[in-house]
Amino acid sequence: MASNFLRRLELQGFKSFALKTVLEFPERVVAIVGPNGSGKSNLIDALRWVLGEREAKQLRGDTLGNLIFGGTTKRAAVSLARVALHFDNRNGTFPIDAPEVELSRKIDRSGVSEFYLHDSEIKLKDLVPMLARARLGARGLTMIGQGQSDMFVKSSSTERREMIEEVLGLREYRIKKNQAERRLEASSANMDKVRALIEEIAPHLRLLLKQKHRWNKRSEIADELKALETNYFGFRYHALRSELHELEKPLHALDAELRGKHEQVAALEKHAKEEDAKAFDAKRVTLLREGLTKLFEERADTEKKLIRLEAQAEITARASHTAQQPPEAYRSFISELSGEIDAALRAQDFAEVKEKLHAWAKKIKFLLNPASEIETKSDDSENEIKKLKAALHIVDKEIIALRAEEDAILTSQRTMHAELRSRFEALEKERESLRKLEEKARNFQFELEKAQLKIGDVERDWRALGKPVSALEELPKSAGEIDVADAERRMLRLRGELAAIGEIDDGMVKEADETEKRHEFLTAELSDLEKATKDLTGVIRELEEKIHDEFKSAFHTINKEFNNYFQLMFGGGKAKLALVKKEPAPVLNENDEVMPVIDAPDADLTAGVEIDLNLPRRKITNLDMLSGGEKSLVSLAALFSLIAVSPPPFLVLDEIDAALDEDNARRFSELVKSFSQKTQFIIITHNRSTMEVADILYGITMGEDGISKVLSLKLS
Ligand code: ATP
Ligand code: MG
Repeated sequence: MASNFLRRLELQGFKSFALKTVLEFPERVVAIVGPNGSGKSNLIDALRWVLGEREAKQLRGDTLGNLIFGGTTKRAAVSLARVALHFDNRNGTFPIDAPEVELSRKIDRSGVSEFYLHDSEIKLKDLVPMLARARLGARGLTMIGQGQSDMFVKSSSTERREMIEEVLGLREYRIKKNQAERRLEASSANMDKVRALIEEIAPHLRLLLKQKHRWNKRSEIADELKALETNYFGFRYHALRSELHELEKPLHALDAELRGKHEQVAALEKHAKEEDAKAFDAKRVTLLREGLTKLFEERADTEKKLIRLEAQAEITARASHTAQQPPEAYRSFISELSGEIDAALRAQDFAEVKEKLHAWAKKIKFLLNPASEIETKSDDSENEIKKLKAALHIVDKEIIALRAEEDAILTSQRTMHAELRSRFEALEKERESLRKLEEKARNFQFELEKAQLKIGDVERDWRALGKPVSALEELPKSAGEIDVADAERRMLRLRGELAAIGEIDDGMVKEADETEKRHEFLTAELSDLEKATKDLTGVIRELEEKIHDEFKSAFHTINKEFNNYFQLMFGGGKAKLALVKKEPAPVLNENDEVMPVIDAPDADLTAGVEIDLNLPRRKITNLDMLSGGEKSLVSLAALFSLIAVSPPPFLVLDEIDAALDEDNARRFSELVKSFSQKTQFIIITHNRSTMEVADILYGITMGEDGISKVLSLKLS
């Protein structure tokens, strides 16, 4: 025999139970009896209320505030209602490590209501699945209220299905399935939202990422450019510096050499000038030539005079030839005279020459004897000839001397010219070598200036990069040769690329990072949601299958039992529960034509339960045709068939037997007795046969004060 599940009911301030009231349920069948209006049904309300009933109407009150004892003429109202149920938890019905579980609910005048599992508050949404798991519900067949004995018949096919599922313990799965479906709806709504958000940021993100990618590339390019610049400027600067250095060294030597050469040439030029000055006396030569010309003229004059005189002398001589002339004397005289003339010519003194000439003239006169006119004349011309000849002689001698001088001058001039030429050639040679040196120096200077200009260019280019010239010196020397033109082309290209990419906008980079993070977050969320959706779909399908399988397998047996109990209660006939699938809403295509109906996959799950009856000896087409008692009997047959298949831990029935005749009431009590093996019964009844099967009777009374009280009467 199963233990009693509901152990105890405690009430305080609840409806007519103003005082703390405790009902123990130590037995299998508890009957609650008492006069009308004593508060029996209030106990059921209390049970329902703790088991999560939210509707005041179901608890027979306009408002939940009516659940609190409202006071009577003799008793003041209370401010708080509390009801507690104690359950046996030895088989772990509640997920709590305790042999007995206390579940309670409180409400105060402000309408605030709280559930407690022991001393801890528990939310209704957490409580409901727990109760479903324990197969405890505030409504349905396990808690049939007063006047609800025909509930099964009166309910809709869907409600019947729910009642069956509850007794079968499938409500737990149904709740879970509903929760899963709600979560699935929420997830797909979230998924739509997340997808929309992703779509919304996607184009912007693409743009930002593209830009970011370009910027990432920018730093790569900038690094490459920097390395290239360092290399290029290092190489160029140091190469030019050493070139300059290489040029300066020989240039210094060249300068010294040049100075020497200049001095040498200047000395040579000075010397040449001096030589030139004394070398050639042109004036003297002119003077000589003029002198010579004059002498020649003088000579020609003298010769002319001489010739005329000699011609006259000849004539005179011929005339005197008649006179004897001693030829021997003349001859000796002439030879003597010739010697005298020579001596006179040699003489320096003109007076001496004149004296001699006078002596010669006397001698000559003596020789010539008698002094005639002819002789005198002949003497005079001879003297004259002598004089002329002597003059001629002197002129000749002068000419010879001048010629000699001229020759000497000309000879010396020729020598001078030769010397001059060789000196000039030597000077020219030196000048040429000076020119060559100067040319060389100029070339060096030119190269030097070129190198300096290039250094200037390099420095300017370097400064243009915004760097101090002093940093150039610190640049490392390039390891090897670099291709300057190629480097310049590459730098130009890289700078162009950098310019094309543009400046990095930190804000935009930050935005890109944030947007990317957000996109990642959303994508992760989407995939979480997709996974959740998939999981939930799986869970829902599993639950559907479970509900379906368990329902189907139980349904067949329930049906058999239903028929049995029906026949038992009606003394024959036939009864059957049938599943009816809900008509699906028509689906229209785009032409507003009704599409062929395809069975919804969960049609079996939502299928309602109809009741087919064949009463003995009567024909009924419709359940409404049944009498009130018959409706209760059919409902009871259904209840017993259900609990036969799946006995709930306890059943609470409020005057369910009220409509039954004596025979049926007896049958009912017998069934209760036999089912109490597996299920605990708490039955409010006015029926004697039912009271008879109870193990314990509680009497509820209400005194003058309007407060319900409990009297217990244990039966055995
Ligand atoms: P019956 O046998 O006729 O069904 P009963 O024993 O089931 O009667 P109940 O319906 O449980 O009687 O009790 C009704 C009584 O409870 C009424 O007299 C009503 O005045 C009282 N009652 C209901 N709510 C309150 C409340 N909030 N405060 C005080 N009394 C209340
Ligand atoms: Mg009642």
